Amino acid sequence: MNTRALATILVVEDEASQLEMLRYNLEKEGYRVTACEDGEEAILMAREENPDVIVLDWMLPSLSGIEVCRRLKSGDETSAIPIIMLTARGEETDRVRGLETGADDYVVKPYGVGELIARIRARLRQSRPSATGETLRFEDITIDTEQHRAMRGEKVLKLGPTEYRLLTVFMERPKRVWSRDSLLDRVWGLDADVDLRTVDVHVGRLRKILNSGGARDLIRTVRGAGYSLDTDS
Ligand code: CA
Repeated sequence: MNTRALATILVVEDEASQLEMLRYNLEKEGYRVTACEDGEEAILMAREENPDVIVLDWMLPSLSGIEVCRRLKSGDETSAIPIIMLTARGEETDRVRGLETGADDYVVKPYGVGELIARIRARLRQSRPSATGETLRFEDITIDTEQHRAMRGEKVLKLGPTEYRLLTVFMERPKRVWSRDSLLDRVWGLDADVDLRTVDVHVGRLRKILNSGGARDLIRTVRGAGYSLDTDS
């Protein structure tokens, strides 16, 4: 069983055959793939789905990949999402290098899918370490995402699957305040039919497990905003 968190890759590519090839190969690697064929839609999807990495074709109808990249990198909600651009060989490559597109990386067409996957993994190691088997640490809490084991100090934490995912989300971005909505999306998935109250219930359970034995409370409740993992709780 693959116990790693499922990473979501948004692929923006207007050539159907390319898109299908990428979808097939990325899903085979265990990624969740969402896709679209034009730039306007890419911006909407990036905002709504908060993907872990975006693979963005340079040549798109209407809005170019460069413009999409620029808008995503200047948007509050989307600026932190790594973008890998797909470019055609030739002058565009130099333009990608020369322009300050804000893209995090780029791959020149025609590319080997193995190369693209390697670059996606490199980006995920930073943006979504739990999806690449990294060990997460915050204060005295550690999660070995390969072994699926969470510890506080020397003590193994007995977490249910939901509490484990919840702690992973917190550990990937300590101090970030997560709204209950965004936790719901990340932990239960976009399609889940779950009440916001359920989020509170599971945060409560996680807090109780983390704090058992009188350990310091590291989950901060931010009134009207949500929760964060913080030393300032
Ligand atoms: Ca294209």
